[in-house]
Amino acid sequence: MLSIQEFIKANMSQYKKDMVSLVSIQSISAQENHREDLQKVATRAVELLREAGASAQVIQNDEFPVAFGEIKVSNDAPWVTVYNHLDVQPAGEPQWTSNPFEPVLTEEGIQARGATDDKGPMLSIVYAIKHLKETGQLPVNIQFVLETEEESGSKHFGQFLEKNNSLLHKPDSILVSDTIFDGDNPAVTFQLRGLTLGVIELKVGEAGVHSGMLGGLARNPLATLTRAIATCIDDDGGVLIPGFYDGVQEPTAAERKIIEQVAARKDFARIRADTGFSEFYTQDPREAEMRTTFSPTFELHGYEPEASGTKVSGYAKANFSMRLVAGQDVADLAGKLQEHLRKTHPGITVNIAEGSTAVKTDLDNPFMERARQAYVPAFGRPAVFVATGGTIGAFPPMQRKWPGVPIVMAAQSLMSDGYHAPNENFKWQQAERGIQTIATYLMSIGDLRTS
Ligand SMILES: [Zn+2]
Repeated sequence: MLSIQEFIKANMSQYKKDMVSLVSIQSISAQENHREDLQKVATRAVELLREAGASAQVIQNDEFPVAFGEIKVSNDAPWVTVYNHLDVQPAGEPQWTSNPFEPVLTEEGIQARGATDDKGPMLSIVYAIKHLKETGQLPVNIQFVLETEEESGSKHFGQFLEKNNSLLHKPDSILVSDTIFDGDNPAVTFQLRGLTLGVIELKVGEAGVHSGMLGGLARNPLATLTRAIATCIDDDGGVLIPGFYDGVQEPTAAERKIIEQVAARKDFARIRADTGFSEFYTQDPREAEMRTTFSPTFELHGYEPEASGTKVSGYAKANFSMRLVAGQDVADLAGKLQEHLRKTHPGITVNIAEGSTAVKTDLDNPFMERARQAYVPAFGRPAVFVATGGTIGAFPPMQRKWPGVPIVMAAQSLMSDGYHAPNENFKWQQAERGIQTIATYLMSIGDLRTS
């Protein structure tokens, strides 16, 4: 029987070809003119799932098809849902050194949009399962759900889960590789923040007026909105909206230990170099980790209208986001924000464009420890548990549909791969290690059930 190392050696050239076929498709979910590419990528994924031994099909979901597949090894085996996404970020950054959709292959890896987010890690899972299936070692039933709207917030994903109820098995666990880790410290993510996007608006007139005519008399909505928003944030980045922090839970003892571990590795000089940012609200590594993962945020991203001569605009808008932690609710926070802003001016409105709550898997869940240990054969050390500040929009609907089912986020991508950045790439070594790690993990959970 082929060992996993022998399988990887024998199949890497095919893996590279499959990667080229996937990342050449411009599956940008944020751009309407790429809807056909979403169909193409879902169709290609279905072919790959079939080659791995799954029965598979494309299921249409509004404009965002899902590649759905299934491998059933036995009636008694637990079910694992493999969730990943096939769509990618736009790739218009001028810093690209190659065409983002004409992959460049080197000894080390592959450069293309979608290489590490998330086509490479997705393909590694498919290969790991293919090996286990072929060698009769797969101890779990697998259900693949590979969607095409993740980079646009997965707004239709909840509807996919509802409409396809009869096809879907309630899983015992969910496996996702859509997170990153730093250098030599592979990581299993146990917590993601939620994300709320919205617009704050004040309208006082139909059109703008000339400041030489009515300036000094007409209320300037930009000025009023700026004053109102200034009351929401203090100079240390703390949020002053009354009740904003209500319900936010203190980290548990185990979580505090993780914060300490991550804080010990935090390198401000490198963060400065990597981001070009020179000012931070704190220099304390522990507080920095708390602020970026365990604390909610209220951030401003831009104002409308942009500057235009000496006109006083009839309206003003501010785009904002909030990152939510466990215990916070989107509608509740939006209401508190609006109530607070109206103390400055009663005409201010808050509109939420989209919102998702935080996602958390308990550290003492047995799936989590097995995932941590699964990194040992390929990486020589178990993974560390980490909380991240980001968001995956499909998780809240999955948690609503399958409450209590643990979501295991087993990272395969590196911080240096360029998630959502120019010159995105994926290393062949990460692919090989990822295939081995995922195979090891799946083999270790044949006896684990959620209920
Ligand atoms: Zn992703």
